[in-house]
Amino acid sequence: MLLYFCNMLVLDGKLVSAAVKEDLKAETQKLISAGNRAPHLAAILVGSNGASETYVASKVKNCEEIGFISTLVRFEETIDEATLLAKIAELNQDPSVDGILVQLPLPKQIKEQKVIEAIDPSKDVDGFHPSSAGKLMQGLPSFIPATPYGIMMMLEFFKLETKGKHAVVIGRSNIVGRPMSILLSSNIPNGNCTVTICHSHTHNLKEICLQADILVAALGRPEFVKADMIKTGAVVIDVGITRVTDATAKKGFRIKGDVAYDEVAPLTSAITPVPGGVGLMTIAGLLKNTLQAYKTNNGI
Ligand code: NAD
Repeated sequence: MLLYFCNMLVLDGKLVSAAVKEDLKAETQKLISAGNRAPHLAAILVGSNGASETYVASKVKNCEEIGFISTLVRFEETIDEATLLAKIAELNQDPSVDGILVQLPLPKQIKEQKVIEAIDPSKDVDGFHPSSAGKLMQGLPSFIPATPYGIMMMLEFFKLETKGKHAVVIGRSNIVGRPMSILLSSNIPNGNCTVTICHSHTHNLKEICLQADILVAALGRPEFVKADMIKTGAVVIDVGITRVTDATAKKGFRIKGDVAYDEVAPLTSAITPVPGGVGLMTIAGLLKNTLQAYKTNNGI
């Protein structure tokens, strides 16, 4: 059921991700019934960062829900780079593994870029390998980083018009902002926007945001985007997830997005809540990439 408040549509990630997962589950059951093995995601977690633990546990749980196999490989925070790279090489060679993800961030002694580049591009279900990023930029089939992929699915699900719209993306990271800006500007369904990408050195951010028909906030600053930055009727996609200490909360913290939801939502035509928005779609994107890797690598 679609949720409207006044004329504002809540872009409910639960609704969309449930629909995506239903499709994936049905397809997986069909593949298994035809005598194939289930798709297999291997996740590597280094250390015990609370947020990373939560993300990985959720990815594993979602795999199980739709009938994928998942393997969680855990290492101590003090692991050296060579050991991690050796494990990735082993998973690259393992024909029973379709997708590999290494949960970021990694401890200081490990170079993230080296780890990203060590993953076989055919198993790069996070879409962070330069090979995947290059293909995405050239409009070639590739693994799309899970968060922007999930956002594109959301735009499609809610049939939000993007063609010719001005999209403003705040944040230029390789995992969210930059691929998001490429997708929104590409000549694809749910693309064809005119895109402005903003970052920490952008001048007049407020004025630029006020021109946005679609605003994607991916900067990691809780409640940074305020009502006075929003054009009436804009679509607002809040990617931010920050744990903000709150002694009154059961866990001692609350999850905050990059958008001050209560004051911004009434001005928008559609907005994602946090939690319950983009985060769930990120997992849907990862699962879709894993099935894609499985099919390609097994000639299905
Ligand atoms: P990042 O730190 O790599 O990048 C942040 C970007 O924001 C940078 O490009 C920086 O230039 C820009 N920025 C920072 N301060 C700014 C400012 N004052 N004005 C304009 N731009 C500014 O972060 P990231 O990995 O892209 O993640 C961004 C946020 O999204 C974080 O809160 C992260 O937790 C969240 N995230 C959520 C999901 C999800 O599934 N919902 C997935 C990935 C990341």
